[in-house]
Amino acid sequence: MPNTKAVIIDGYVDEPACFGVPPYISPYIRYIAGALRESGFSENDIHYSTIDSIRSHPENIGNIIKRAQLVIIVAGMTVPGKYLRSTPINLREIESIFNASSGLKILGGPIRLGFSLEGGKKAETDLLDTADVSISRKDIEAFVYDVLGEKTKNPENCEHRFRTVEEIGRWAIKGAFIIKQHPDYPNVMCELETYRGCGRNQHCSFCTEPSYGSSDYRPVSDVISEVAELYEIGARFYRIGRQPDILSYHAKDKGGDIPEPDPQAILSLYKGIRNIAPQLKVLHMDNANPGTIAKYPDLCKEIFRTIVQYHTPGDVAALGMESADPGVVKANGLKAMPDEVFEAIRIINEIGRTRGNNGMPEMLPGINLVHGLMGESKKTFDLNYNFLKHVLDSDLLLRRINIRQVMAFPDTPMYGNDELVRKHKQIFLKYKEKIRKDIDFPMLQKVVPVGTILRDVKCEINDRKMSFGRQMGSYPLLTGIPACLPTGRFMDIIVTRHGHRSITGVPYPLKINTAPLQLIQELPGIGKKQAINIQRKAPFSSKDDFIKRTGNEGIIPYLDF
Ligand code: SF4
Repeated sequence: MPNTKAVIIDGYVDEPACFGVPPYISPYIRYIAGALRESGFSENDIHYSTIDSIRSHPENIGNIIKRAQLVIIVAGMTVPGKYLRSTPINLREIESIFNASSGLKILGGPIRLGFSLEGGKKAETDLLDTADVSISRKDIEAFVYDVLGEKTKNPENCEHRFRTVEEIGRWAIKGAFIIKQHPDYPNVMCELETYRGCGRNQHCSFCTEPSYGSSDYRPVSDVISEVAELYEIGARFYRIGRQPDILSYHAKDKGGDIPEPDPQAILSLYKGIRNIAPQLKVLHMDNANPGTIAKYPDLCKEIFRTIVQYHTPGDVAALGMESADPGVVKANGLKAMPDEVFEAIRIINEIGRTRGNNGMPEMLPGINLVHGLMGESKKTFDLNYNFLKHVLDSDLLLRRINIRQVMAFPDTPMYGNDELVRKHKQIFLKYKEKIRKDIDFPMLQKVVPVGTILRDVKCEINDRKMSFGRQMGSYPLLTGIPACLPTGRFMDIIVTRHGHRSITGVPYPLKINTAPLQLIQELPGIGKKQAINIQRKAPFSSKDDFIKRTGNEGIIPYLDF
């Protein structure tokens, strides 16, 4: 690409209210591309690459970086996790990319708040040794735009500022084209923003969202126009994930701690998206505040009914519970007491637990727990465990339980007060293991029992004996298939076994006459000996022929002849 003037490198982002690790593309990337377009760059002037693409083919990009007028890296994991096939950028890589460039160098995204690849550590703020790199201290898209602007050519003189809702209204549309350069395109999940900033009057001790100020809702029409543009370009997978609480989109401040939800705004948003993108394959969400549900149960029920009507199944309402210890809830200004979170879980189950056409329940709650918060004691671990056990014993479903240790960021009350992270590390590890075994495992057996057919699982990685895939969506279930299958392929899978947080399955229906041994023996009730016997007797002409010659009726629903 000899004309390239700007290179955007996606080092990935993972924040409580924004995700950008493949197959996701974060809004930051699209906004920056839009800001570049508005600054006079053409689509051909802008090259986008993920850090994983650079690692696997460094030769493709070396020259582009060297000659580009502008090299922009987006990075920052404020809630780092483990990723199936992606590894976030590290500081050494950031330095080496910038060292290869002779143009303007800009680093930004959530990394502006500090850098750490692991939860439970203090985020480092002294980022780089490289002197000529500009670190955007507020919004990178606004910084890029201003640096290229008429008046400010020198990044040192450029003010760091937040972008306006009007700016991203334009940039989101102008930058949508960039998804075509994503390595997963067209199977890329577009993370959509509805607003950011916390609408509560008090804030949780660990959270960085209040640094954005009060909620700056995007107009419904802006989000729909963005989806229209992305859809036109080929996007079929969407998650409304960039907001701290979907229930509070366009909520009204009535003077209390939590603003009053506006079900009409959410209806207009979802209906508008479905109208403009009729063939979309996934429409999911992220983040629901259990405090909002506790305070406004009827309005929230209305919103959840709207979501279930217009979304696609497998959706997850991730609830930021953080702690089931009332002392910790109070000491850290958290959103809801344990009984309120329990009621939120019950409400979401009531509206969302029916199984949808992709095999997953329509919508389930997820739970986020954070450890190392102020006031935590050994009792906190018991309280959290007992809460989850009570949910399980009450036959309520949870899609996933996210447990992490707090990462303390500057300008939050937690900064400098995170000594309990280290003190409780060993208890934390044991407790986490116990939850995986005693809660996650039986919960998963209920969420997707053996014999459930999961539609459109995309195979993402493989080796000689195993492949792993996921459905496209919010918190998709990791699915192991005991065979080497081509990556990138979508297939239906029937569940045969459960792990703590993943399932094993075989392609559905299994073509028994050609299936490899390891898939046949994965079928329920079939051991290696029987699998060899079945394979030896193949081919079978029909269901009846199979039953007659093997005496096995039980696995018929899994098979194709
Ligand atoms: S409610 Fe708490 S966790 Fe949610 S955005 Fe506000 S401060 Fe952050």
